Amino acid sequence: MRSPGGPGEGGAAAPQGPAPLVRFESLTKRYEGTVAVEDLDLEVGPGEFFGFLGPNGAGKSTTIKMAIGLLRPTSGRVRLFGMDPYESPLEVKARIGVVPEDVPLYDRLTGRESLEFAGRLQMLERGEAARRAEDLLDWLGLREAAASQVVDYSQGMRKKLALGCALIHRPRLLFLDEPFSGIDPIAVKSIKDVLAHMVREGVTVFFSSHVMELAERLCTRAAILHKGRLRAAGTMGELRSAAGLDGAASLEDVFVKTVGAEALGGGAGWLVS
Ligand code: ATP
Repeated sequence: MRSPGGPGEGGAAAPQGPAPLVRFESLTKRYEGTVAVEDLDLEVGPGEFFGFLGPNGAGKSTTIKMAIGLLRPTSGRVRLFGMDPYESPLEVKARIGVVPEDVPLYDRLTGRESLEFAGRLQMLERGEAARRAEDLLDWLGLREAAASQVVDYSQGMRKKLALGCALIHRPRLLFLDEPFSGIDPIAVKSIKDVLAHMVREGVTVFFSSHVMELAERLCTRAAILHKGRLRAAGTMGELRSAAGLDGAASLEDVFVKTVGAEALGGGAGWLVS
């Protein structure tokens, strides 16, 4: 798996050093009648661009919500920077940035106001929040829309703005739930470039996706989740080996082999016959 400016295939090692930034230990979440995540053990180290992959309903969003302290696990635990996001919420939140699948923005604020507000929530002094907001508007290509209300933003612009809000306090760890869903290829490219730049600067990115082609291009390592269970984790080479595939296999091939054709649907043969 290649990383822009990062380690190539084979060079992308498992988490280095004694202290992974993200650690899930036997993480489990049960809803009434549904096991959303079961016995998940996973570690992500500093500077990784980590893809958390799985079909619909695999448990990706549930895992991310537990990781950021939005959902309490049924059992097991989360450690971010060695801390529990429930026991040390302020310390953890100061170090992480989050872009959930449904981006939480205020429609009546402008793009500039949204960024400044996010900065103030992270305890930045007013002038500093304003300065960083201006930089982010340029960096994310939102300068022309800076004074427009968010209600008038496209889906891609909203994602970029949410990313800016998540970055304004310079977090060292980013959680992104489906950052590329519902946006056009130009917005995908610009978000991809922003993220690759962040990783080159030493930020760790943990993102969920169904888009295998993007994940293959971006990730240093990935995990494949299916029906709440971890099916495989590693570099592209390790995932291929675990799936029994050769070096020509794409991440999509690995994904299909790992989760099985059942995850791709089927059963509506009448539609195409
Ligand atoms: P998608 O890619 O479609 O967003 P996902 O991998 O993020 O899916 P989750 O949203 O984490 O999957 O859902 C995992 C499982 O938990 C699914 O079976 C889902 O129906 C169930 N689930 C999620 N949230 C709840 C809830 N609040 N109450 C009951 N079941 C839930």
